Amino acid sequence: MESTMESTREPIIEIQSVSKTFGDFKALNNISLDIEKGTIFGLLGPNGAGKSTLINILSCQNRPSSGSVYISGLDVVSDKKDVLSIIGVVPQENSFYDELTVAENLRYFGSLYGVTVIDIKKRTHRILEMLQLTEKKSSRASTLSGGMKTRLNIACALIHKPEVLILDEPSVGLDPVSRKALWDTIRKVNSEGTTILITTHYMDEADLLSDRILIMHRGNIVVEGTPEELKNTVGERVILITSTPGNYHDLTEQLGALENVASCLDSEKGLKITLNSKQPLEQIIDIFESGNEHIINIESNRPSLENVFIHFAQEEWH
Ligand code: ADP
Ligand code: MG
Repeated sequence: MESTMESTREPIIEIQSVSKTFGDFKALNNISLDIEKGTIFGLLGPNGAGKSTLINILSCQNRPSSGSVYISGLDVVSDKKDVLSIIGVVPQENSFYDELTVAENLRYFGSLYGVTVIDIKKRTHRILEMLQLTEKKSSRASTLSGGMKTRLNIACALIHKPEVLILDEPSVGLDPVSRKALWDTIRKVNSEGTTILITTHYMDEADLLSDRILIMHRGNIVVEGTPEELKNTVGERVILITSTPGNYHDLTEQLGALENVASCLDSEKGLKITLNSKQPLEQIIDIFESGNEHIINIESNRPSLENVFIHFAQEEWH
């Protein structure tokens, strides 16, 4: 266990100027990115953004057209075999065998990775405990519930104790309860020291789960940072001010004239003000007071990652 985790964090995945073309279609356009050891990294973007293309390159299933990727210092093209031994890949389709039991599946995947029989036993015990599958050890995979199948799919990718676990849209098709359970599982695996790379097109999922996020769009990097950083960059927030008696007509004009007020709408609930950036609230409150309006309540809405995506997508492509 490292005591100075924050300061000693180093990249475990280094993506350097990676492009990928299919014919004359550019699916990835000069992507560079470092992913720090021990983190949960979310690769976020709408369908067709290039998430799977990037994941496939990282997991040695496809080669970059140009650029390089290193995992733990190993080149995914020239050191493919070594890379495969330190990564675990959870594919979208379940990779286990329905007719085998849970334990047999783990034994099979372990032997595939060259794990010794004794280590498979030890690991199986730990993984099944961690993923709450111990009771199902001797059950056929086909008899498991949906949530358990998802966990078994992850378990199979963990049997060789990978440093990095890569999951491509693992929550697609899961109901909300199973999705939450999946997030808990991912956090648990991460807390054991495994770096997690997860792709998703659910903004809320990336927000809740990831330490850092990369938003992709049409093969390009839109923005990268912690969820908080990304939301702060956008800076836009909406505040709803309720006052009495609620006759805001004059105020609306004055407020709308403030530098960072994007819009000011008189709604049924109150005055809805959209701010472009960190407009000090004092100025807004002053205007209310000078208009003899008594503020009853101020509600403030932080931007979501959805806002971040829309903000940057508009900036770049419209
Ligand atoms: P995502 O996973 O973000 O939904 P993908 O990486 O699967 O996106 O795809 C990115 C783009 O590249 C899409 O427009 C897709 O049609 C295209 N693409 C992916 N794989 C291939 C391929 N083997 N041949 C041609 N085009 C591809
Ligand atoms: Mg995909």
